[in-house]
Formats: sequence, C-alpha cells, structure tokens
Amino acid sequence: MVEQIIKNNNLPLYKIDQFNKAFYGDLVVSFDDITTWSKKERQLLNEIKFISLDVQTQQISKKQDTIKVLFKRKLDGKLIETVLMRFEDGRNTVCVSCMVGCPVNCTFCATGKLGFKGNLTATEIVDQVLYFARILKKEKAKITNVVYMGMGEPMLNLENVQQSIDILTDSNKFGLGARRITVSTSGYVAQFNKLVVDGFRGRVAISLHAPNQVLREKLMPVAKAYSLDQIMQALDNYVALTNKRVSYEYVLINKVNDMQENAQELSELLTGRLAHVNLIPYNSIKGVEYERSTPERIKIFCEVLKSNNINYSLRVTMGDDISAACGQLAGETVERS
Ligand code: SAH
Ligand code: SF4
Repeated sequence: MVEQIIKNNNLPLYKIDQFNKAFYGDLVVSFDDITTWSKKERQLLNEIKFISLDVQTQQISKKQDTIKVLFKRKLDGKLIETVLMRFEDGRNTVCVSCMVGCPVNCTFCATGKLGFKGNLTATEIVDQVLYFARILKKEKAKITNVVYMGMGEPMLNLENVQQSIDILTDSNKFGLGARRITVSTSGYVAQFNKLVVDGFRGRVAISLHAPNQVLREKLMPVAKAYSLDQIMQALDNYVALTNKRVSYEYVLINKVNDMQENAQELSELLTGRLAHVNLIPYNSIKGVEYERSTPERIKIFCEVLKSNNINYSLRVTMGDDISAACGQLAGETVERS
C-alpha cells in the first residue's frame, strides 16, 4: 500500500526504504514520527491506517511474564487475541492469531467452539507483532520469536499467513530470522506441502494429540480429511529438506489420550524421527467434559517417553490466570470455567 502511494505520487523509490526503516526498524508510534519524510509526504499516508487493530483490553499475568491483548479489528469490530510471553532465558515470543475463530472445531479447543468468523489479512497479523515490539522497545527489548499458535488454523489462511511471514522475515522490514518463526497446524497436509514447496524455512509444530488414527479422529475432525500416515509423510519430507526438528504438540486429557499405551505408541511413532514432543496439560474450557490429566498420569506418560529416548518437554502453563494459555483464546464470547 505504501508502495502504491509512493508510485501514485511520483516519489523517489528510496522513500520506501526510509518508510520501512522507520516503521519496522525504529518502530515509530505514529506516521508523524517518520522524520525522514517531509510533513507533506507524511500527509499522503493519511489514506492508510497506522494500525489495523484497536486495543480492547490488555491483561498482564500475576507473574508479569505474559501479556494478553484483546484486539478489535478496525475492519469489522470483531475480536482477536494475541499473547506476548516473556521467558526467563530472554526469549520474547508473540503468539499471533491468523483468524477470527476457527472452522476446524477440535473437541478440546475454545477457539474452535467459536466457529469461523473470518481470515485476518497479512497486515493484521503483522500488526499484532508490531504492537508488542513497540511496547518492548520502551525497555530496549525485542521480539525474538513469533509463533502462529493463536486463534485460527494457519494452513486455512495460507496466502495471508505466507505474506505475513515474508514481511516479518524481510531484512528490509521486520528482519526476524526465519528459524524464529513457528507455524502450527492441526494437520492440513496439502496446504502444508505447499508452504514447504514455496520455500518456508521456519519451524513447524504439528498438533498431534493422539498417536493413532482412531483416537485422533475422535479428538479432531480434520483427522478424517488427512490421515496420520499422510501427515507423517509430509513432515518427513520437511525434515529431509530442512533438517529441522518438528514439534509434536500433545494435549494431555485425563483418561482420553494419556494412557501408558498411548505414550508407548507415540514413542514408537517418533523413534528414528527428528522430533520433540511438547506436552500441554489440557486447559479447561467451559462446556467441555474433558479434564486435565492428573500429575501422576502426566508423570507416567513422561517416564514412558523418557525410557524410549524421546525428546519431550512439559509445557509450563503461562498466563492461565488471564486465560492466555493454549486453547483458551476465544475473544470474550465464550465463557471460561
Ligand atoms: N490451529 C493451529 C494453531 C493453534 S495452536 C493448531 O491447532 O495447531 C494452539 C495449540 O493449543 C494447538 O496445539 C492446540 O491443539 C492447543 N490447544 C487447543 N485447545 C487446548 C486446550 N484446551 N488446552 C491445551 N492446549 C490446547
Ligand atoms: Fe482450530 Fe487449532 Fe483450535 Fe483446532 S486447535 S480448533 S485447529 S485453533
């Protein structure tokens, strides 16, 4: 859009570099702060919005390590959520949404319960990152990682997601290293293969949640469209091309997918693969019968993985006091327990 304005007004092309440097690099808080542009030139920017989202609410967790923002789209007033997680090791990770709601309807997910309300544009995805980057800049800190793990299924809004990744990784724009971006999918194989063929070289997380087809189908409707075999084949292909480890997300639901034999089957599936299992204790959602696995069951599950030499980590739940934990992102429209 800025490119268009420059072209339409016959401004020199270096104006775009100046804009990018101020907007994505210096993280100005308004177009007026782009001092490399004259006042008259800056006025031309009035026809575009500085940011596509308004802040509706902002919550900070008790431990101060998580900030959740409920954004209102300027386009249609619909709500989305974005979370900033500040880790002790120095990482500052933004978890972005790519949709309002989600059409995939996994049985355990608050976003899925909302249904699909619309795709976010690339600008709206990038604006979530820039919002937090501007906050961190005040204390001389930076965004180090972006994960596409908020509301929505990235593979079902692929074009906009790809465009947003291009902006975030462009060294003339936001300039984040590709390996600092993680895209998570519930398993849309065809779209995932396209992402890889198109040259995606970031990290991948697959929301697996079950070690076999039968159980997976019970938890996630998408499993009927794409089988576990197809998913593993696509991931093997990605690993062969990139030599990057894949994250396998696994929500632990009490007595549903946390049996000892599930852990054994998961181990067998992943043995010999470049894999890391991310165990996420289920976060409760109102209206859903599932319960979080007990600490004893989680411990046994972990022990089985360990005895099989499977890399894993048990995700510490950040920000659950502000409902910013996985699967709890649902705008304000779904009540939480
Ligand atoms: N749609 C993509 C991106 C969202 S990522 C995907 O599903 O991969 C959000 C992660 O949180 C996914 O791994 C998802 O399975 C997980 N999740 C969803 N509901 C959850 C819940 N109630 N408790 C814990 N994790 C949950
Ligand atoms: Fe959508 Fe992911 Fe939630 Fe499933 S887990 S409903 S794919 S956001």
